[in-house]
Amino acid sequence: MPEDFLHRLRRGPVLGDGGYFLELERRCLGSYKQGVPLAVLDHPDGVLELHREFARAGAEVLQAMAWGVGRIDREAELHRTAVALAREAAGPDRYVAGTLSPYFGKRRPQLSAADRREVAAFFDRRVGQQVAAGVDLFIVETFHTVAEASVAIPFVKQAGIPAVVTLTYQENDYTRDGLSPAEGAKQLIDNGADVVGVNCHRPPQTLLPLARAVRKAVDVPVCVQPTAYELEPGAVYNREIVVPGLWTTVEPRVLSRFAVAEYAKEAESIGIEFIGACCGMLPYHIRAMADALGKPSTLPDRTRAYSLGIE
Ligand SMILES: [Zn+2]
Repeated sequence: MPEDFLHRLRRGPVLGDGGYFLELERRCLGSYKQGVPLAVLDHPDGVLELHREFARAGAEVLQAMAWGVGRIDREAELHRTAVALAREAAGPDRYVAGTLSPYFGKRRPQLSAADRREVAAFFDRRVGQQVAAGVDLFIVETFHTVAEASVAIPFVKQAGIPAVVTLTYQENDYTRDGLSPAEGAKQLIDNGADVVGVNCHRPPQTLLPLARAVRKAVDVPVCVQPTAYELEPGAVYNREIVVPGLWTTVEPRVLSRFAVAEYAKEAESIGIEFIGACCGMLPYHIRAMADALGKPSTLPDRTRAYSLGIE
């Protein structure tokens, strides 16, 4: 059993894993039409293999494949299985994170009392089912509003495990409820988050500046999880990955392992404690990050200069 996650973060950066959702679809293990998370139930061996690849690459935290779980009949079975698969690949030395994705997302910048009750019931079940299966921390991620993310935090805290909460930003540097990264992070901490940060929709180039603003504004550990896709000219976010039908068009623009290694080094240099990755980040990216951060990988590749000749 690894040490308490928050203690561990204080000792230096922890490396997260990569993106599951788009990759499971790309591997033909899940489909957007039926719901990618169903891969957990339909192809557990394939999901386990992706977890194992990230673990071999050097990831120190494996996320249960529960991102994007909507209302389905087999919700409890899916959550139980998702956590079990991550735990099997994690072994005794890595952390397993439960995963919570938005219910309303950007569709509801403000939540009515009825909205809050509805989303609270949903989060209560999702967190409870994963906690019962045994997770070490929870990553509440890709939330467009502090309001919705904050509904989830008490359910994680009631379970007695750390709550990592990350917000997502698209065309501008404000949440859908109008908060800057610094303001949003502070409010999340006031509402109980143990670790705050930013994730998804943006590659390192435009996500790291937001992470830097969060780092300056708060004293708690910070998490960052960028996408692995280059931006279109003039863009600040990967619009394609949020538009149904365009999700796969980013595939030709995957960042190189060298660029991702540079991201890891820059995140470390600005004091990010939880250096992770999101959509498009594959096991070889995580291995490059592990190498760049001087972390052990089962498949070290130190014959290459990931620092682009600087070392
Ligand atoms: Zn993502």
